[in-house]
Amino acid sequence: DVRLATGSTAPGREVLAHNYAPLPVTLHSGDGAWVRDAQGRAYLDFLAGYSALNFGHGHPALLAAAHDQLDRLTLTSRAFDHDLLVPFADAVTALTGTQMLLPMNTGAEAVETAIKVSRKWGYDVRGVAPERATIVVAAGAFHGRTTTIVSFSTDPDARDGFGPYTPGFRVVPYGDADAVAAAIDEHTVAVLLEPIQGESGVVVPPADYLPRVRDVTAAAGVLLVLDEIQSGLGRTGTTLAADRVGVRADLVTLGKALGGGVLPVSAVVGRADVLGVLTPGTHGSTFGGNPLACAVGIAVCRLLEPGDLQARAAELGAVMAARLEEMQRAGLLAAVRTAGLWAGIDVPADAGITGRGLCERLLARGVLAKDTHGATIRLAPPLVVSEADLHTGLDALEDALRA
Ligand code: PLP
Repeated sequence: DVRLATGSTAPGREVLAHNYAPLPVTLHSGDGAWVRDAQGRAYLDFLAGYSALNFGHGHPALLAAAHDQLDRLTLTSRAFDHDLLVPFADAVTALTGTQMLLPMNTGAEAVETAIKVSRKWGYDVRGVAPERATIVVAAGAFHGRTTTIVSFSTDPDARDGFGPYTPGFRVVPYGDADAVAAAIDEHTVAVLLEPIQGESGVVVPPADYLPRVRDVTAAAGVLLVLDEIQSGLGRTGTTLAADRVGVRADLVTLGKALGGGVLPVSAVVGRADVLGVLTPGTHGSTFGGNPLACAVGIAVCRLLEPGDLQARAAELGAVMAARLEEMQRAGLLAAVRTAGLWAGIDVPADAGITGRGLCERLLARGVLAKDTHGATIRLAPPLVVSEADLHTGLDALEDALRA
């Protein structure tokens, strides 16, 4: 029974492929940190589209940019430039302190792009033997769902049954810079990591991990590629999560919040001499960098330019962390990991409830969150959430844990 298997209560849902098991709620409208179902019941959105909705639902500046552009020009393809393409690249590179941008649509496409660019740079610039390039990646990582990306996933659900797999990846434990160093050889072109592992449950590595990986990669002449698709654009209290530890990557993938929760917008930004290995015809996308995406992406950059939202994520994040740690001290949570307004919490093994069960209790209390890997749930309210609403959501969490 599909409804039992997916936990869904929506009538007629059998027509959808079964690759998701959503919570039993059907949403209809949203405003800021709040969404409503078809019956008008309000919920606090503590998932925020896996951080795509960092600015909340229906942010006026993002909607205005989209509405204005809808009436003007929506698609040109890259066969022709349009008047927002360079301004978009300028805005994102200025925000991230990078030199060049390649626009795509989804996160997985940005990661695929970074993989292709790294390989080509390895062959063209580093002189790696043809077909031998390797990329070092981390266990527990999540970078998307394409066949190449699932080839180096360590999550059996994501990987099993989708072979044959793309070769050329070496998986090492996350958080261990020595393991990265040991995995690099003369064929290695890049190290690809999340600065904080999102899907894994907001796994924050030791503070010296990224700086050490940066040193190791620089010394070996290997690219450092950071996937900031979930961690980037304000979530962790800084524009990029790598800013927290003062690390600059050679390539950075961005997605999710770059489209403001309005439409899919992703990009690879980084060193001009690295992205510069691509020449006309070697890579592309019909929709990547389209006018509508650029209009929204520029508006997103304008929201982040002053730094207020990053500061807000840090301040509210401290409030959230203090309350979650209090719940941990009270024995309600087994583990708490936070970075800015982003938290991974583990339900105690003896609590008699799974992460999914906790999310269902939260739903009943008007808060939306999603479990990951059994006992873990991730909290990622929009950065525009009010402090009062944040407490409302955390009160509901405490109540759900005590239930
Ligand atoms: N990379 C990271 C770090 C992600 O968290 C995700 C999505 O969760 C992706 C890549 C894939 O993004 P998309 O679902 O837009 O392809």
